[in-house]
Amino acid sequence: MKKAIERIIKRPAQPGMVGDGFRVYNFIPGANISQRRISPFLMLDFAAEFNFKPSETVRGVGVHPHKGFETVTIAYKGSVAHNDSAGNSGIINPGDVQWMTAGSGILHKEYHEKEFSKKGGLFEMVQLWVNLPKKDKSTTPHYQSITAEQMGKIALPENGGVINVIAGSYNDTTGPAATYSPVNLFDIKLNKGGAATIPVAATHNTALLLINGNVTVNGQKVDEHSFVLFKNEGEEIQLDATEDAVVLLMSGEPINEPIASYGPFVMNTQAEIYEAIEEFQEGKFGVLE
Ligand code: MN
Repeated sequence: MKKAIERIIKRPAQPGMVGDGFRVYNFIPGANISQRRISPFLMLDFAAEFNFKPSETVRGVGVHPHKGFETVTIAYKGSVAHNDSAGNSGIINPGDVQWMTAGSGILHKEYHEKEFSKKGGLFEMVQLWVNLPKKDKSTTPHYQSITAEQMGKIALPENGGVINVIAGSYNDTTGPAATYSPVNLFDIKLNKGGAATIPVAATHNTALLLINGNVTVNGQKVDEHSFVLFKNEGEEIQLDATEDAVVLLMSGEPINEPIASYGPFVMNTQAEIYEAIEEFQEGKFGVLE
């Protein structure tokens, strides 16, 4: 049975800025999709394709904390650099994904990679926040740097395109990301005329974002940059590309625990939020200039 569409949410009229480097459309929770409804996903910012002019100063977002969840950065165009209070740093290039488990708390900054900044060019990216179950919220912060080559690959018939499995599984093909609760994250590239039937557990909270191009979803036309939320019934989604298209599909088993959310801290109770703010103010997440 098809997983029926619950809502199609068009791109907001205006983007917001995260720092001066990330020009994003917010869909979760901005489009009135509560963190409980779409658990384990907490936030989705979509930096739709934008042409940044060359700049000698590097654009981005300065030092900020995270605690109690994971940030997943999916780079489509342009490159992002990051570094953090645990001494880690790296570059996320087009096609790659960085899966950061903030866990017990971390400080980091995210910005356009230096050479990309100098040259300027097209920038297209998604940041998705994934909640951690209560028992894993205090895990030591760590990263998974996932390159395009490491992802599970499904070649669609008749040169229809490719599905990159970042996390979870598509039939027998599994993705490299280790997750703390069952999550599927698929980077779907369809060629014009290409079709895909995506298997998703009926119990999973499920949505997709049309990054670019044109597709029909279960036969229904969806505008570019739209977000589609599915009902929690049915086991498959039918995609047909009327133009070349890129789709990000996410699904996950809901984490049925209380959510207390305050900016970059997501815990289970308000008391834990106050604790997190205190830890941050006392410098317990480390130091980063
Ligand atoms: Mn961040």
